[in-house]
Amino acid sequence: MRLPGRERLRYWAERAVFPFCPGGVILLYHRVCELSSDPQRLCVSPKHFAEHLEYLRGHGCVISLSALAEKLEAKVLPGRFVAVTFDDGYSDNLYEAKPLLERYRTPATVFVTGGCVRQEREFWWDELDRLLLQPGRLPETLQLNIGGNLFRLALGKAAHYTGEDYCRCRGWNMEERHDPSARQSIYRALCKLLGPLPESERRKALDGLLAWAGAEPAIRASHRVLSGKEALQMEEGGLVEVGAHAMTHPVLSSLPSAAQRSEILRSKTLLEDILGRRVQAFSYPYGSHSDYTGETVSMVREAGFVCACSNFAGFVGRGTELFQLPRLLVRDWDGGEFASRLGKWFDG
Ligand SMILES: [Zn+2]
Repeated sequence: MRLPGRERLRYWAERAVFPFCPGGVILLYHRVCELSSDPQRLCVSPKHFAEHLEYLRGHGCVISLSALAEKLEAKVLPGRFVAVTFDDGYSDNLYEAKPLLERYRTPATVFVTGGCVRQEREFWWDELDRLLLQPGRLPETLQLNIGGNLFRLALGKAAHYTGEDYCRCRGWNMEERHDPSARQSIYRALCKLLGPLPESERRKALDGLLAWAGAEPAIRASHRVLSGKEALQMEEGGLVEVGAHAMTHPVLSSLPSAAQRSEILRSKTLLEDILGRRVQAFSYPYGSHSDYTGETVSMVREAGFVCACSNFAGFVGRGTELFQLPRLLVRDWDGGEFASRLGKWFDG
């Protein structure tokens, strides 16, 4: 399995020290659906997701995140286990993923971005997709004020993006090195610029982009997130648990302490009001080492969560930190590739 160098070293170091040590992995999904364009590679098709669950059921090793947290704290981990999680709180988690989780009796935790349950806008990366990567005509030059700096980007020929252009380019994603047109280059550049901004600055920049594109704010049915009622439905049946994913999906490490604390606490309180129970698990937005700090980890712990998930690959063993649980990011792999990648984690 291709892992970033540091994670690979950590994995092998852990395996060398505890070759027969019990442990497992936590899977990170985002969406279960099929979209014609998925520039962030967030979607796993329902067919592939069913194949993943079939494999997991055949290996009898699935555990809920809350049970895993309890066992990790008590240092009594089961032999080999897998836990399933989802980030962001897209509505397909309820309508596509949940029926499959029920069919295969697989527990899961869905981390919901608190501020999104009001359904005011799409996630910012989806709004960029709607404005830039869908067919249509845009002005030839984009001038945009982002956080007080004026950016000027030229679309050139890609100002007119036909249905054929869209069909030719729709398989593109951010991990590709080559951008097939200026539309993808601008999408990539704006992701980089908007990602670290505080919500209010990002909203201003997106409003500027909407005005430039002559478009209205809209939420596509295909890009909707769970409403409060749907978050409650997600937990019906007891197989799925809802966790918190901050309020506005910020890079927590980029915020002052008070704003970080507010993001963490408000998401917990809001979801607890909706669900009528204590919310126990947190997931750091974006979740890599640079997206949160030691102070963030302390704040999450002090807020009363019992565990928190990150977004870097790693094996969960006895020494794993309960508030920085590593996860394997799952892509739209078929059952064979999923089994092979998981097998490599367990068998080397
Ligand atoms: Zn997220």
